[in-house]
Amino acid sequence: MSLVFAPAPVATVPVAGGGSYPVHRIYCVGRNYAEHAVEMGHTGREPPFFFLKPADTVVPVPEGQTGTMAYPSLTKNLHHEIELVVAMGPGGKIFGYAVGLDMTRRDLQNEMKKQGRPWSIGKAFEQSAPIGPIVPMATTGELTTGAITLDVNGLRKQTGDLKDLIWNVAETIEQLAAAWDLQAGDLIFTGTPAGVGAVVRGDVMEGHIAGLGTLRVEVA
Ligand code: MN
Repeated sequence: MSLVFAPAPVATVPVAGGGSYPVHRIYCVGRNYAEHAVEMGHTGREPPFFFLKPADTVVPVPEGQTGTMAYPSLTKNLHHEIELVVAMGPGGKIFGYAVGLDMTRRDLQNEMKKQGRPWSIGKAFEQSAPIGPIVPMATTGELTTGAITLDVNGLRKQTGDLKDLIWNVAETIEQLAAAWDLQAGDLIFTGTPAGVGAVVRGDVMEGHIAGLGTLRVEVA
């Protein structure tokens, strides 16, 4: 059977050292650093929970470049969340890691929380997942520790360490794999440290994770 119209192109992310990583799904972990959970009004270790973004919400930013994300519709409170992204490869193995931003329409998310409704409108919108090059695990080794930071216009806003993840990467993969068929091409945004806040048009966000370099994105 022939397709009745041309399919959307496959979303891809550049791989450090060459090639493109085809994105299948984007899983995100909620409240996975204790201090961020507190700033969102929660305490204690709760079971991990997940939400998804469509694959085509990625904004791939090549090494050394400044990416651009359009300020999204409907919101007056667009928040940055800097996150370690795990890129799955074949056979349930980690292919590599990247620096990512789980951009959030916080006002819309909060409204949905209040009503007990899904977060999609707050999380899964156009260009909501800027991401830097995927660095193969062959280069980085397993990432379990290291500074994760975000600056806005040169001012430090978020600071954390990967060792402070409430649910570490291995546990997160195990939990995800129990609920979904994890496969090659799946990206996992592992949660954000404390210090989330709003950005406006013209702001430049600079995220950094030890061993993975810098992700630079301007809000246009
Ligand atoms: Mn997040």
